[in-house]
Amino acid sequence: ASPEATGPKPFGIFFADATELLALPAGATPTLTRVDPETATVSVFDLGLIRGDGIFEATTVWKGTPLAWGLHLTRLQKSAQMAELEIPPTEALVALTDEVLAQMGEVEYAQLKLMITRGADDSLSAAPKDAPLSIIAMVDCGKEPREPEIEIVTLDREVNKDSAQKAPWLLLGAKTLSYATNMAAKREYERRGAQNAVFITLDGYVMEGPQSTVVLREGGRVVTPHPSIGILHGTTQQELFAWAELTGLETAYEEITKDRLFTADQVWMMGASSVQSVRAIDGKPITHDIDTAIEISEFMKTEREAIDAWTAA
Ligand code: PLP
Repeated sequence: ASPEATGPKPFGIFFADATELLALPAGATPTLTRVDPETATVSVFDLGLIRGDGIFEATTVWKGTPLAWGLHLTRLQKSAQMAELEIPPTEALVALTDEVLAQMGEVEYAQLKLMITRGADDSLSAAPKDAPLSIIAMVDCGKEPREPEIEIVTLDREVNKDSAQKAPWLLLGAKTLSYATNMAAKREYERRGAQNAVFITLDGYVMEGPQSTVVLREGGRVVTPHPSIGILHGTTQQELFAWAELTGLETAYEEITKDRLFTADQVWMMGASSVQSVRAIDGKPITHDIDTAIEISEFMKTEREAIDAWTAA
């Protein structure tokens, strides 16, 4: 069928009631307001808009299941703690996303995003004084999956490997809505003809991509930078570690120097339960294997029970 015949893919935007969610009784269904994407509005006083002051999580929905959503909500709570934001408990957020997906109907493949901002800036004279958090869920059924094979570049990130500990106000490792620098890095790698990038610290250590975690396979070992270097603890990386251990590979969090990217047997970039095989870095071809990347992405869709049991352990 032509795209005209199937029509536009469904897209859902839902506003939740923060006050209700902060005190939602167990088993209750949260109230949601589904808004028309064309006319949906966010307050001009919202700190998420004015300062990027908020946090979020995003994942892939596959056959109705938001993949690794428990890991995402654990990270959301960590981001909230780092940003000193009091958000609803995880059980209430699970009830919220369950209801969002129920209202969406049958979803084969989509991106689910949950955003929580600090609400209205009450230092502005006209802002509502009691506006709590803004909580918005978005479901995009028209988004394309990540490409399985890519080229990347390395980009300097002007922090050291211990900056996250020394300067916690940088919020390194929190998934905040302030993604302006991540998007600037994306424009830079695109300008250089690549499809992703890896940030390197001033002292020469591998961090993460602007929207991805990086994992290396070196012989029978699978390694990734320790989150304490000031990166997100990737949910896809945790799922990949489940695959690796079930396949008989050893896994570890380590300090990884930049040179190891070029000598690894495989460099993977990943996010939202999808894995990409890197074929070149800074224009230099590296060893890679696209079939395994595709196999791991499939594993993340089909072996949920094994993954959830492994990541919960
Ligand atoms: N690092 C950053 C900065 C990200 O934005 C993302 C999001 O996709 C990731 C890593 C990968 O995280 P996850 O695998 O949990 O989607």
